[in-house]
Amino acid sequence: MISSAPVHEIAVDTVSRWESFFQRTEYMQKVREIADLYPELSSIIVDFQAIDHVDSDLAEQLLDHPDACLAAGREAICNLMHQDMRHASIALRVTRLPRDARVRIRDLRGRHIGRLVAFPALVTRSVQPKHNIIIGAFQCARCGQVVMEQMRDRAFQEPLECYKDQDGCGRTSSSTKFRLISERSSTEDVQKIECQEPLDDLVGGASPARMTVWLSGELAGTVSAGARVIVNGIMRTVRGNGKSAVLDAEVDAISIEQQSQRFTDIEITPEEEAEFEKASKDPQIFDHLVSSIAPAIKGYENEKAGLLLQLFGGVPKQLDDGSRRRGDIHILLVGDPGVAKSQLLEYMSHLAPHGVYASGKSSSGVGLTCAATRDADWGEGQWTLQAGAMVQANGGNLFVDELDKMTAEDRSAMHEGLESQRITVHKAGLDATLPTECSLAAAANPKYGRFEDTEELAAQIDLPDTLQSRFDLIYMMRDKPNLKVDRDIASHILQAHRRGGALLNRYEVGMDAVMEDTAEIAPTYSMDWLRKYIAWSKRVIPVMTTTAAKLIEDQYVTIRATGQGQDSSVPITARQLEGYVRLSEAMARARHSKAVEPRDAKLAIDLCEYALQRVSGSGESRDVDRIMSGTSKKDRSKILLILEIIRSAGRQGISRTEVSEVAHERHRIEEHETATVLTRLLERGEIMYRDMNKGIVAVV
Ligand code: ADP
Ligand code: MG
Repeated sequence: MISSAPVHEIAVDTVSRWESFFQRTEYMQKVREIADLYPELSSIIVDFQAIDHVDSDLAEQLLDHPDACLAAGREAICNLMHQDMRHASIALRVTRLPRDARVRIRDLRGRHIGRLVAFPALVTRSVQPKHNIIIGAFQCARCGQVVMEQMRDRAFQEPLECYKDQDGCGRTSSSTKFRLISERSSTEDVQKIECQEPLDDLVGGASPARMTVWLSGELAGTVSAGARVIVNGIMRTVRGNGKSAVLDAEVDAISIEQQSQRFTDIEITPEEEAEFEKASKDPQIFDHLVSSIAPAIKGYENEKAGLLLQLFGGVPKQLDDGSRRRGDIHILLVGDPGVAKSQLLEYMSHLAPHGVYASGKSSSGVGLTCAATRDADWGEGQWTLQAGAMVQANGGNLFVDELDKMTAEDRSAMHEGLESQRITVHKAGLDATLPTECSLAAAANPKYGRFEDTEELAAQIDLPDTLQSRFDLIYMMRDKPNLKVDRDIASHILQAHRRGGALLNRYEVGMDAVMEDTAEIAPTYSMDWLRKYIAWSKRVIPVMTTTAAKLIEDQYVTIRATGQGQDSSVPITARQLEGYVRLSEAMARARHSKAVEPRDAKLAIDLCEYALQRVSGSGESRDVDRIMSGTSKKDRSKILLILEIIRSAGRQGISRTEVSEVAHERHRIEEHETATVLTRLLERGEIMYRDMNKGIVAVV
């Protein structure tokens, strides 16, 4: 509440300090702008650091006595403007409070009352902005005169009497009645939001502390549930309900800083840029990046590569007709218990600047979407929406563990959220559409809790097909005893523990040797470096080269073609094709390349192939193909090889006999096999006759 803050003694000294501050800084220009544009422009945002730099005493006053100090600042602004604007209602906002004004919500105490505080918060609820009366106009029922009454602390206050000094009759409120005339009252917009401590600040299983925050003036309506902000405000107390003497705390925000929620908000210095530029030229860059992901987790290079590419992301596109193509890559990890699924997701959620980690089985009540709630003392008895994980993750990355354990309601919401990037809520008479644009990485256990060899592995993913098909990559992680692998993992885990111990006792003798010994656990790049590199590289919008596009097309066509003629086959759909595109774009970004080159497409295809193979459960690609299309790998590669022969002949085409000869010579493919493949390719329209009589075929 800026303009209706309690009236304090305004020290003349403080006013002149403010005046000189404005005059000595670029903020004077802002003051002039307000003078010109008032009331359209009525607020001024000042950087605390600037005040501290010019007049540290003033800065200190501001922290200790914000109400009086800001009132003085407003007066100073009015003084500096034209004479006729003396009573203009100006909002003076201060941002970027110093570190020592930072408090966690849970640490707010009595000593903070009336002081300026700053805390990071996650907005969990917001009620629609309303109008708060600052100065009420009241008409006296006896004499008809309209008198003004100033409101305090958002509490409604009728005039005590029909003020004589406002030409009223002087009757007290007990001998007359007052009627509020809202059109003549002056109001400001206010919005009440509920904030919660950001989850990454939580220790152990502590439940996050909450705080009610009031936004006023142009701040009202700027913050919605799910936003991550730093609230700069003045802590106030309000009396709870009933006779209790216990005070509740609330905060009047004087400014809100949107937190860098996205990669795009991360600032990168020119020096860092130069460093990244150099790193991106390293032919090994992708391997280095992957090996820096969760170094404490042994192996899983492919899974890590997929998760890394998810952060780079594909390019979201809007086509000429206005239709959209998502750039988000979704990943599913299905696996036995104890294979580090949760660990991987957790690591990634820390790496992602706006990562939200949720568990499918969490019983928070808010769930993935949102909950409509109604408390007696919240929103004046009206229903409010509380943002769930998916809404909070909007614009970032969502990590859902134990996906298989989520409720049916969450499941269908997730469906909708992933597909249309928003969810519609009809709860308690509230209709809301909430944005849920995010990349999802989820982990789940298989149907029986652990993979069984007796049943096809793909059939053990206990999720509806429609949801499954949203995932660009599905990894199967099995925990099967294997002497070599077990030893590697065991030694790795032990090394991680040794190194962890050494890091805690780093100044003791002998620790250097341990550090050196366990260097494998140290990432090539730090988390911070990675995050910045990704942010930097995400600025590139890579465009597919024709050769890369061709490669993907071939892969797609080949897999589709193999599905033909099999009754129960499930060939890949255009959805997976788009998955290839997204992954290759992400791969190009990892190299900071403006062009998606064949090697990017190749790697994307390999990643998909790997994920699919794991779906099969064994290294045998045969199973993969059965799952994908019902055709064996041998058949598929034949189709690919034959298609390649025809393609290399170019536009003018090649005769069927020649194809047959080359196929036999080069790849030992029998004549009748080639004939079958050719027929299939012709049927599918992948190739056509250039000259039917001479049997010359060419790619379309
Ligand atoms: P899940 O979620 O798959 O059930 P967790 O992520 O909870 O498994 O992992 C169980 C424990 O085993 C964790 O402490 C994890 O660090 C460890 N672990 C499992 N596999 C590996 C691995 N390959 N490398 C390092 N640690 C591992
Ligand atoms: Mg787990």
